[in-house]
Amino acid sequence: MPSRVSRRNELDAIVVGAGAVGGALALALARDGFEVAVVEARVPGAWHVDDEMDLRVVALAPDARDLLCDLDVWPSIACARIGPYRYMRVWDALAPGELRLDAAARGEAALGWIVENTLIRHALWQALSSAGERRIEGATASHVHLHCPAEVAAIEDSGEGVTATLDDGTRLRARLLVAAEGAQSPVRARLGIGFEGRDYGQRAVVAHVATARPHEDTAWQRFQPGGPLAFLPLADGRCSIVWSLPDDEAARVLALDDDAFRAELGCAFDFRLGTITAATPRAAFPLRLRRAERYVAGRCVLAGDAAHVVHPLAGQGMNLGLRDVTCLRRVLREARTNGTDIGAAHVLRRYERERRSENALAAQGLDAIERIYGSRLAPLALLRGAALEAAGRIAPVRRLLADAAAGRR
Ligand SMILES: Cc1cc2nc3c(=O)[nH]c(=O)nc-3n(C[C@H](O)[C@H](O)[C@H](O)COP(=O)(O)OP(=O)(O)OC[C@H]3O[C@@H](n4cnc5c(N)ncnc54)[C@H](O)[C@@H]3O)c2cc1C
Repeated sequence: MPSRVSRRNELDAIVVGAGAVGGALALALARDGFEVAVVEARVPGAWHVDDEMDLRVVALAPDARDLLCDLDVWPSIACARIGPYRYMRVWDALAPGELRLDAAARGEAALGWIVENTLIRHALWQALSSAGERRIEGATASHVHLHCPAEVAAIEDSGEGVTATLDDGTRLRARLLVAAEGAQSPVRARLGIGFEGRDYGQRAVVAHVATARPHEDTAWQRFQPGGPLAFLPLADGRCSIVWSLPDDEAARVLALDDDAFRAELGCAFDFRLGTITAATPRAAFPLRLRRAERYVAGRCVLAGDAAHVVHPLAGQGMNLGLRDVTCLRRVLREARTNGTDIGAAHVLRRYERERRSENALAAQGLDAIERIYGSRLAPLALLRGAALEAAGRIAPVRRLLADAAAGRR
């Protein structure tokens, strides 16, 4: 159904950034019959099943998978290369106790899926490209207009609409502009929206490793004083590791030769899967907590990492961003049903109210876990070991944690 509020020569929405969040949002809006322009700075790289796996993988929660299913991109992702995890095991290096979660206890096939970032982006970009070419089934008046490579050079918000001038001089006018350009968002800076938080003084060292024993379709996480170490099961039997370490330790670990790295990593992981038999080259990402002071400025809104960046210890960043997409999509659909301007302040504020509080809660929760588990204090270590053990034993708490991890709460 075409948007009732769109006027001649005016788009419904301009989405800046086509990462997982911007790509999913643009596709969702187009599927809903809105006319959308996408502005992406980098031409997305091709993805092929014979390529070495991207070092950046994410643990997608079931609600994120549901969104990608609804957008018809999940089948191409699932056919390609994904690692479902049916179990989760979390333990503390300094205290006894272990938390175990099992998908079967929730009546689900998996707690989540380990997917390469580039695969998600590639699948969304392919879908956006074909949506632009052939008009979307059931929504014949809708288009996706792709501008890539391109960036926004200026934004004018007249109150009646928003105009984005691109670096090639193209002018796009719409009811609404969404900044989904990731943590460095130039649009957010242009809008004068503050982005505050703290640097953890840590970097996440990532690599793919082969282990002597199979990963058992399990997402493993060991909390250590320097930061958590996760082993995430990949489709090809290897594990993707995310090893959060203080900056100086991360620099040292990055510089180790292959044998020394594998030996240290095996030791840091308690040799739960035996020795590390092979490892890819490593990469590292700085870890930060960031929150936008507001999500809305006039007819412009923020989504995904442009609005919030969290510690990756619970694998939530992209999942939160995709929840932004689901929320904004619902709010805009309802506005259209009510015959309301989709860029009206009260419409965008609804999205902001819902998502800002939920994202803030998630960020605070992850920050608190990082502080508690980062401490070497013996009484605190004993307490958290006992808490993990109790959480693992008490069925309702276990269900609550599994629901939260799955994005069902
Ligand atoms: C080590 C690590 C592990 C992680 N693990 C997980 C996990 O397990 N689960 C999870 O949910 N999350 C995880 N995350 C977080 C997750 O990767 C991010 O939250 C997610 O990728 C953010 O998506 P996004 O689309 O908002 O931003 P991005 O992925 O940053 O995409 C932004 C897009 O905007 C484009 N762009 C940038 N600037 C411009 C511009 N000026 N104009 C136009 N386009 C522009 C970029 O090219 C890109 O396509 C992890 C993060 C790290 C660092």
